[in-house]
Amino acid sequence: MGVRMRVNKSHTGNRRSHDALNEPRLSACPCGAFHERHRACQECGTYRGRQVIDVVARAERAVRRDKRRDAEARAQGEEGSSAQGASETTPTETQGEAKEK
Ligand SMILES: [Zn+2]
Repeated sequence: MGVRMRVNKSHTGNRRSHDALNEPRLSACPCGAFHERHRACQECGTYRGRQVIDVVARAERAVRRDKRRDAEARAQGEEGSSAQGASETTPTETQGEAKEK
């Protein structure tokens, strides 16, 4: 191909500027949940029928993390009234996470 016909990086970038997807492409998992294409299912931890994420261990980790955060929030509250602004935001965030589950 002659140099005159060559598409340079600039033209390639200009053409691809319209290629972006506006919304995530979701696929149905056999477990019933939706997951992003070419990503493992976050609900059952499988990818193309293969178990790739240990969801039980992950759930246990989440429980431990929540407990630790609660303990930290309580410890911060006991420290004094000076850090009230920061401690007020963390309990509401943890409550929101609990409601999602
Ligand atoms: Zn699934």
